[in-house]
Amino acid sequence: MLLAAPRGYCAGVERAIRTVEEALRRHGPPVYVRKQIVHNTFVVGDLTRRGAIFVEELDEVPDGALVIFSAHGVSPAVKDGAAVRGLRTVDATCPLVTKVHKEAVRFAEAGYDIVLIGHADHEEVEGTLGEAPEHIHLVDPAHPEELRLDGERPVGWLSQTTLSVDETLGAVARIRERFPLLADPPSDDICYASQNRQEAIAAIAPGCDLVLVVGSPNSSNSRRLVEVALGAGAAAGHLVDHAAQVQEQWLAGVETIGVSSGASVPDHLVTGLLGWLAERGFTQVETVTLAEETLTFSLPHELRQIGGVL
Ligand code: SF4
Repeated sequence: MLLAAPRGYCAGVERAIRTVEEALRRHGPPVYVRKQIVHNTFVVGDLTRRGAIFVEELDEVPDGALVIFSAHGVSPAVKDGAAVRGLRTVDATCPLVTKVHKEAVRFAEAGYDIVLIGHADHEEVEGTLGEAPEHIHLVDPAHPEELRLDGERPVGWLSQTTLSVDETLGAVARIRERFPLLADPPSDDICYASQNRQEAIAAIAPGCDLVLVVGSPNSSNSRRLVEVALGAGAAAGHLVDHAAQVQEQWLAGVETIGVSSGASVPDHLVTGLLGWLAERGFTQVETVTLAEETLTFSLPHELRQIGGVL
């Protein structure tokens, strides 16, 4: 087995989960969380057992309750809605998502049309769109040709933080054919964690008969890891929430298995997968490390208002 590194939790996910844990400790249950705090079934289940209540929208949150915004970010309209209701809020948006929101606001203030490359059904995209709805034009990274834009205003591009680097750059090149003066984001929007995990899985994929990525089906960065592995030469690849989802027939004729996990995945789920594979004869594990990660983010300052020292 080739074990890709880095894998698993990123700084934004660690911060978001710790935010809910701290809120539960300081405030006591229940603490409401709008949307899944991070896109992982196990994490959400664990926090639910400890007293978090996950809701889709603020109208499910009772008056006077404490509500946490998820790592994927929210549009200004959601924050305004919470303020109008007088809800106490803690914003666990990843700082690297907030950075993209600020870039959208700056482009819009400068009079730009913004091409946002991302997936329409993703919460992060909904939040970023809400920063400048009159200026932002969403396009899927797989279908840049579907962009409808007249080019009367200057044009810049931004992206969702968890996309495939190669697919996104391909889309940008296509868009630039139509808009040669297309302005780039001030810095990479695809975050360090997505890039590092993609580079690591791409490095091991060519030698793999099978790649298994641990992650939930709604996790964008986890899904991209399977796509990147297949694109880099893995013979087969699957996304699994945990070991029990691996199908025995996937192992037929397989000699080398690549393993990684998305940025929202606790490492014990990977350990569980390695144990499951070891029981089936895959006992040799080699870790392939492409980068060391040391980034951490401080907790949201609003937690201080709940009490105690951060
Ligand atoms: Fe932040 Fe990237 Fe992690 Fe998303 S995947 S929470 S953008 S560091």
